[in-house]
Amino acid sequence: MFENGNDNETIPDGLKVKELFQNNDGLTYNDFIILPGYINFPSDNVSLTAKLTKKITIKTPFVSSPMDTVSESTMAIAMALNGGIGIIHHNCSIDYQVNEVRRVKRYEQGFISDPLVLSPTNTVADIYTIKKLHGFSGVPVTESGKINSKLLGLITFRDIDFLNKDQWSNIPVSQVMTPIDELITAKNDLTLKDAYHILQRSKKGKLPIIDSDGNLVSLIARTDLEKNRDYPLASKDNHRQLLCGAAIGTRKDDEKRLEALAQVGVDVIVLDSSQGNSIYQIEMIQYIKNVYPNIQIIAGNVVTQAQAKNLIDAGADALRIGMGSGSICITQEVMAVGRAQATAVYKVSEYARRYNVPVIADGGISCVGHIVKALTLGADCVMMGSLLAGTHEAPGEYYYQDGVRLKKYRGMGSLDAMTACQEASAASRYYSEADHIKVAQGVSGSVVDKGSVHRFIGGYLYTGVQKSLQDIGCQSLEQLHQGSTQGIIKVEKRTAAAQIEGGVHNLHSFEKRLF
Ligand code: GDP
Ligand code: GDP
Ligand code: 5GP
Repeated sequence: MFENGNDNETIPDGLKVKELFQNNDGLTYNDFIILPGYINFPSDNVSLTAKLTKKITIKTPFVSSPMDTVSESTMAIAMALNGGIGIIHHNCSIDYQVNEVRRVKRYEQGFISDPLVLSPTNTVADIYTIKKLHGFSGVPVTESGKINSKLLGLITFRDIDFLNKDQWSNIPVSQVMTPIDELITAKNDLTLKDAYHILQRSKKGKLPIIDSDGNLVSLIARTDLEKNRDYPLASKDNHRQLLCGAAIGTRKDDEKRLEALAQVGVDVIVLDSSQGNSIYQIEMIQYIKNVYPNIQIIAGNVVTQAQAKNLIDAGADALRIGMGSGSICITQEVMAVGRAQATAVYKVSEYARRYNVPVIADGGISCVGHIVKALTLGADCVMMGSLLAGTHEAPGEYYYQDGVRLKKYRGMGSLDAMTACQEASAASRYYSEADHIKVAQGVSGSVVDKGSVHRFIGGYLYTGVQKSLQDIGCQSLEQLHQGSTQGIIKVEKRTAAAQIEGGVHNLHSFEKRLF
């Protein structure tokens, strides 16, 4: 790398990253641009291996935000399979959160551990709704209509496609399903290879897995075995289980939550405060370090070096940077406190680097370019909310508005989320029982369908960041950081007109398709 680095010394062109911030302005990602470097390698050679915390290294720098419209087990599994990590939110009861973490830690590729299930009294109309919303129709039927209950049968589209539409809501699934005595099932000690053979011999599309009492524990789909997807970048622990993070607060009650999360093997704890520089967080870091020395702690949020110092001194294994830069945030407006995100990332990472504490740029990432800018300014990883909220793996159902397929996305400090939190008797980062009046620091909204995380993160974002690093002339994030701190990578401020020029302009109409 930087073969032409010497030229940069003799041809002074552009600003060193340090110089960009020397006026102490509050800059955002859009306020600057990175100048191209020298390419002497193909983009697929670019490694995106990143430090998440002092002790955890992952193969892609992508982290999903602990928000209730972003990160539950399905998201965390997809993030980890694609080399990142998901942080399960805590806007829910302890049991709920622990169960989500357990699902990630127990995930076995090929097994659908949380299949959609119906009860015998559901109707054929429900199958059509499932097919329309989720795209599949192979649904096991159990006594309670939930998993871990006695398996009674299986229903697929083929059982119902001859039925007249007028009858759909009158026919219970029990009447048309394939009953248990005609079903091919398997016990829960089988391997994927065994499952493959059974499905091959039986020529069926689904294999329900049951325990010794006949309760449904998971489902295997033939289509998944055929795809036999490989995830060479997957983030795994020493037992080859997927890595998983979870967020908690800093109250006394959170010690109980922490204990339960530790029991199911959570790898990373995110201390979820919008202003992390508090005695509560410092005491919580010290408590975790004492009681659970193997759990890595991501502390924060911080946006200044003084905040970072206190949390690093207390023992944080990584810091989360950002205050009010998120797409759903109104903190800067309401509280008059926060910092422009590019400046925050630069300042905090500049300090944390001296202590080898990795940092995560959190909030305000809305495209590949923002990810690369955050990494160039010193971030080790990026945390995303809105960018992931519209994927299949985010919680919630799609709905249509004006012909556009959308999913709900809300700030954890929105009135909506705080009310949900109160109902789940969980402590929030924006609301405590002692507060009589809620002061919203976020809004509720919607984001467009982004397809599956596997294609979006594993394909588009990953390849996009690789290509961008190639343009800059770096083969790894380590080189990017070096180039940035050594003043080899050059940047430039963008005027408002330059920003307009850098976007699509002067067209009568256009369609922006990204991948
Ligand atoms: P079907 O025959 O209509 O059920 O669909 P396929 O078997 O062709 O595809 C189902 C796909 O959806 C597979 O990739 C599954 O892993 C995936 N999937 C995710 N969740 C579920 C679920 O709850 N039930 C079923 N049947 N499939 C699921
Ligand atoms: P933040 O508002 O996003 O920083 O979220 P926190 O949950 O960290 O804090 C919410 C409020 O509760 C703030 O006023 C904190 O200072 C306060 N707080 C946080 N942890 C504790 C705690 O353990 N005890 C008490 N009494 N207050 C706390
Ligand atoms: P996004 O990726 O959507 O731009 O930002 C996500 C980040 O915004 C989260 O990781 C979190 O740090 C922050 N955030 C989430 N909900 C709220 C909220 O209601 N108010 C504020 N101020 N920040 C939020």
